[in-house]
Order: sequence, then structure tokens, then C-alpha cells
Amino acid sequence: MQWLLESTSGNSPQPQYARESFELTEAAEWLAIDIQCVREHQFQFYLTDSQGAIRAQYYAMISKTRIVVGPTAALSSCGSVPGIIPQGLWSLHIVGFPAENSLSFSLKVTAGIGDCPAGTLPITGDQMWINTESDAQLHYNLYDWNREYKASLKRNLSLPKMPSWFAGDFHMHTLLSDGKRTPIELTQAAVQRGLDFIVITEHNAMTTGWPVTSLLVIPGVEITSSKGHFNAIGLSEWIDFVGNKSVPIMETEEGMNRVLDEVRQQGAISSLNHPMLIPYEWQFKETPMEKFDTIELWNDPTYPDNVEATEQAIRVWDELWANGQLLWGIGGSDLHLLAGESYVEGGKSAEVGDPTTFVWCDKLTANEIINAAKQGHSYMSRGPRLSPVLESAGRHYLPGQQILNHLSNNQENDMKQLSELTYRLQVTDAPVGSYLIWFIDGKETHIENIDINEMNYAYSLSWNLEDFHWIRLEVRDEQRALLALVNPFYCGVPISQKRLWSEFVNWKTEAVEGVVDDRANN
Ligand SMILES: [Zn+2]
Repeated sequence: MQWLLESTSGNSPQPQYARESFELTEAAEWLAIDIQCVREHQFQFYLTDSQGAIRAQYYAMISKTRIVVGPTAALSSCGSVPGIIPQGLWSLHIVGFPAENSLSFSLKVTAGIGDCPAGTLPITGDQMWINTESDAQLHYNLYDWNREYKASLKRNLSLPKMPSWFAGDFHMHTLLSDGKRTPIELTQAAVQRGLDFIVITEHNAMTTGWPVTSLLVIPGVEITSSKGHFNAIGLSEWIDFVGNKSVPIMETEEGMNRVLDEVRQQGAISSLNHPMLIPYEWQFKETPMEKFDTIELWNDPTYPDNVEATEQAIRVWDELWANGQLLWGIGGSDLHLLAGESYVEGGKSAEVGDPTTFVWCDKLTANEIINAAKQGHSYMSRGPRLSPVLESAGRHYLPGQQILNHLSNNQENDMKQLSELTYRLQVTDAPVGSYLIWFIDGKETHIENIDINEMNYAYSLSWNLEDFHWIRLEVRDEQRALLALVNPFYCGVPISQKRLWSEFVNWKTEAVEGVVDDRANN
């Protein structure tokens, strides 16, 4: 059986949702969808079967491609759910993104029995995370969130102790969305680099399976609207971010807030992506910032505009903290390119694990990584290995932890007294000329040069632990380029003053002007 669906959308300034349906009236074992756009266009769709279950997904800049849903993973395109092809009414849910030219496409749907045609995308992979058995939509019913993985042996010469700092990357794309690598290529690159885990975050598509590997691969999705992107990391099932109206849910302020709430309800991490990277910066003015767990301070440092966008994001982050919005920093390579490929001719190539986010966990499981990252037990790095600890009254704290007052009842009168704290740190793999900068309450307070023959560093301070304070650390190189960034330790309870993104965006405008001035002075 074959259907030809053709459509042309008008020149809409906003992404538009449309549905095309076809009736399957004969038995079939596979379904192939040939998409052809008149010119290259950003195209997104998902396919639902006659039971309403999502069976295929795709998001990319394309002119031509073929997606196949077959009886097995080996015969099906990535992003699909292989299995029985039920008869009845199937639908293609399409989101056309705005462009200078209107979206004009044809979809040829073919259903058949026997020889299944090959698709243009890599296959789903033998490690299926989703099948057709669950009632919930795209439910990770086959994914084991508590399976324990072995840490990379490449990075650690001997077997690492547990708990440990595990190395990973929270943001990347394959050919299922607009990345250029296959899941196998991405896995190999991560293993080669000595990573312990990766998070796969396709644009608006949930990864349904992965090739068999001993690397911990955590499912995520980059919810991608025309006004900003955020990562839902460790989602357990599909969230309807599209809806059935012409304007997709994730395109409105109210709709995006609802999507953010649903991510939280599933226990996943909601992570604000590249918040200051124009034109992909966050533009939803009414987002209450407490809807995010983490903020991607450090997105692919090899992407030229990110050098400045990262510095701006760090400044916004300090402003968030000063206003009681305790978001934890996170890093992501946001990898799209092939191995060795660079955004700038002759520049450093974009690679998985650049930057790396190190997360402190008892053991290496998806659940442990998600929970620890949600609590800020992490730091980001392009090279230096750190072991930051805050010592107070004989106790040791991790980044992300609140330092508590441990005075006994009869010492209550002393509550107003200052407590002595020591920020201890071991540094290895830092280049010659690099240095440490400590920030207290968002202000640079102490600088120390790194001596490559010295591993141990300490900085002492005293705080009244009843007040709200926070301390964070950066490592920079001779040129002041960022090498590592540690999440804050804090004490006291912040009094929240600002909540909405617009209240921080206003501040951003001033920051941008400040940056221009700095450059003129240099
Ligand atoms: Zn993005």
C-alpha cells in the first residue's frame, strides 16, 4: 500500500503543527516514510499508529530522507519503536519551523510484507529501551536506571575507588536529530576519551534504543522551541510538548512552563541550555527560574560564539545565586560534528567530553548520576582534575552541599559567631601558568597560581553560618580562558528576590555592554 501526502505551509513567523493521516487497511510488517522537501528545511515529525502509540520520530535540517519502522530493531530506523504494525488510522504529526521560504514537502508512505527496505538513518540498536508493551507513551520500560557500570579504565590506571568523581558529557546529538555521527561513533569517541557516561539529548526526539556497549548511556531529550532549548535528562516517558493546535505547546510561555513542570514530575533534570548563546538563547521572559535544576554554563567551547556566551552565562549565574535561585552549573559538548571536524578552519575540533562534567557518586548508575547532578555534586573541566572539599567543624562537604551549623544547645548564644571554613583542593593536569580564582557571594576574592609541582591548595575563610553565603572556584589559563568551574558550597537560607528570566535578561543587556567596553580597553 502507498499513500502520497503533500503539503505547503505559509510563511509563518512561528513553528506550525500539522497532522497528516492515512488508513492502513491491509496486513503489513513494515512501514517506510520517504520525506522530500522542495528545498532544505528544518523538519520535525513523529508518527502515531492506530492505537495512538508513537512509532517513529525525526528532527533535522533535511531535503530528503527515509525512515523505516519494521518488526525488529535491526530493520528499524533509530528513534522508532519496532514491532507489530496494526491496521487502522495512522498519523504523521509534523512541526514546520519558520524559514525565509515556506515549508513545502511530500511524504510517501509505503507499507508492505516481506523484504523491508533500508532507511537512510542508522538502525535503532540492539539494546532497546522502549517497546510496544507499555501503555505509557515512549516509556523507558526496558531501561535499567539502577544497572551498575564499570568506570572507565582508560582514565584511571588502577581500578577507581568508590565513591568517585565520574566523568561524563550531558549534551550531544546523533543523526536522529541534526548531529552527524552515528550512535556507535559517538560511543567509541566517548570511550576513547575515557568518559564514564554520556547523556544523549536529541532535539525533540526520545532515543528508543542504543547499540550494545559497556558505556553508561543515559536518555535525555533537548526540548527545542524557536525561543530556547532545555535538556530533560533522565525522562522516564514522553511529554507532549507539541499538542494538536497549530501553535505547538512548547512555543508559548504558559506551554513551556507546563512542559518544565512535567519534566520535574518525572524526576528528570531540567537543564537550561546555552542560555546566552544568540540566536539559541532562552527568550521565554516569564519562566520562573526555580523550574530549572541546572544551567548549562559551558556549552561546546570550540563553537566561536560560546567563548563570550559562557562568560555571560557565568555572570547571569552569579546573579541567579545572589537572588536565591540556586541552579547548579553543568557542561555539555552539544556535539554535532564528525570526528576531527571544526567550526573554524584550522580551529580545535569539537569533541565529545569537551567540556567534561565530573559528578560525585557512590556508584556508576543512571540514577546516581542524575541525582548527584541534580544536587550540584559536580564540576566542569577542559583538562584539570580537581577534588574540591569544604571543611567545617571537622566535617567534609561536597560541592552543592549546604554547610550546617553544628553548635549544641548550650552554645546557642554563640550563634552569632563566625565559623572557620577551609576550602581544600587537589589539582592535577593543569597547564603551566594556570591559576585558581575563588568567588565569594559572586565576587572574586582570592587568586592563587598553580604550581605544577604542587597538588594541594587551601583557602581559609570565616562565615556566620546563619547568613546566606556561597563560595565557588574557577581555574583559568594564562590567557584567562576557562579551564574548570566548580559548583558552589553554601550556607544559610537565601531570601529569593527575583524569579522570572526577564528580571535577569534586563541585567544581561548591561552585561553585554560591559563586555564590549572591556574589549575596547584591551
Ligand atoms: Zn540547543
